[in-house]
Amino acid sequence: MNVRTRIAPSPTGDPHVGTAYVALLNYCFAKKHGGEFLLRIEDTDRARSTAASEQTILDALHWLGLSWDAGPDCGGPHGPYRQSERLPFYTRYASELLAAGHAFKCFCTPERLEAVRMEQRQMSKPPGYDGHCVTLTPAEIAASESAGIPMVVRMKVPREGSITIEDMLRGPIVFEWRTVDMQVLMKSDGWPTYHLANVVDDHLMQITHVMRGEEWISSAPKHALLYEYFGWEMPRLAHLPLLRNADKSKLSKRKNPTGILFYERMGYLPEALLNFLGLLAVPPAGGEEIMDLAAMVAGFDVKNVSLGGPVFDVAKLDWLNGRYLRERLNSGEFSERVRTWALNETYLGRIAPLAQSRIERLSDLGPLLAFFFAGRLDVSAEQLRDGKLDDLELRQAFVLVAAHLEALPAWEVKAIEGVVRAACETLGRKLRDFVRPFYVAINGQPQSVPLFDSMEILGRDIVRERLRGALERLGGASASEQEAWKKMPLKPATVPENPAR
Ligand code: GLU
Repeated sequence: MNVRTRIAPSPTGDPHVGTAYVALLNYCFAKKHGGEFLLRIEDTDRARSTAASEQTILDALHWLGLSWDAGPDCGGPHGPYRQSERLPFYTRYASELLAAGHAFKCFCTPERLEAVRMEQRQMSKPPGYDGHCVTLTPAEIAASESAGIPMVVRMKVPREGSITIEDMLRGPIVFEWRTVDMQVLMKSDGWPTYHLANVVDDHLMQITHVMRGEEWISSAPKHALLYEYFGWEMPRLAHLPLLRNADKSKLSKRKNPTGILFYERMGYLPEALLNFLGLLAVPPAGGEEIMDLAAMVAGFDVKNVSLGGPVFDVAKLDWLNGRYLRERLNSGEFSERVRTWALNETYLGRIAPLAQSRIERLSDLGPLLAFFFAGRLDVSAEQLRDGKLDDLELRQAFVLVAAHLEALPAWEVKAIEGVVRAACETLGRKLRDFVRPFYVAINGQPQSVPLFDSMEILGRDIVRERLRGALERLGGASASEQEAWKKMPLKPATVPENPAR
């Protein structure tokens, strides 16, 4: 058997270290068995998928030193590798399921589905579709169709009995069919759901082993049933443990930075980060924890993936990165890394113009722009308080702005400015007074180069960390405060066309 694995990211946000971890393990497994590793973009969620996110994910994985034998950027024999370009496959296989009676058309309105959900909740029953449309007659279906009622295709799921899924890491897992929902396969917008597209593609791309995050375990019975309906062999499954914070909670950006780009910006070397992720699954041979990709492939055995939950221990990453910097680079290579990290044309080309009109000597650049070359900033509560906002307002401002920045689909200066101005209106402060603590938190001092441009250039991850740091300096915000403040309705604010910055 020619082993073939894949990573199948959805381009709906910034690349996550968890994606890199899963990609690395799939890569190691495939290469260990002389097989292939491919990358497929799962962008059937048309509202949330963006080309920019796709590009960032590919760039981040490449930056880490991973490569794939087939993918949207390099093609391959079973392409296209972007689901949005594969619609004809999904419609064709959905029709096959309908024709064979394994799927049915469902015309239920959102209101009806909500009423069913409410009733199930009241009766403490597992939530799920109640089978209303399974028994529609051809005449009823035709009538609904000609009336133009929106329709989805759902898979039929037995209501009795159970299925056993063999997981390479967890052994047999039993699911009672009555707890498995009659999953939507085709949405009313004509696009497939993850489940249909994923099964069809894994089959057509001849994937032999699916190693993915454990959040997909509950999808396994649906997928197994689809493979059975199609008469296809199902790939072997391994549901990998999710990365954890040191306190064993699920790694989330509220507690720890999770974006690959954050670690790049912080100045971790890609090979150190990859090595660190590999150590979560590959035991160091002979006690040596420094491993390159080839060593990780050689040492990989899926049985060593511990279900306990690998801890993303930043202190360990720091230690490992320090070793790489000191032991693995000669001085020429080191300078080269510094250049690629932030002393490159592109970065300097973005930050130097911000300073040009604000200095008298080039040597003023150092203190003025130092914050562009730093990670977290060491600002004190006194510096943050040194303005017109009181402590409550300061904490509200940081929470409010951080929450709304998080929701921005694209990280660009106008949108960032819009959020800060709107939050300022909401708290009823003058812009100058309102932005002052943000200058301190993000640019490290109240007088600096323009704030909003700086935020754009620093990137979402660094800004998130600095705002979090500032809030913590002021004592933080309780869960209920966060909850209440995030909900404060933002007053709309206009962003001037050519703001004098
Ligand atoms: N698109 C899914 C994700 O974003 C892929 C899950 C899978 O590997 O099946 O994680």
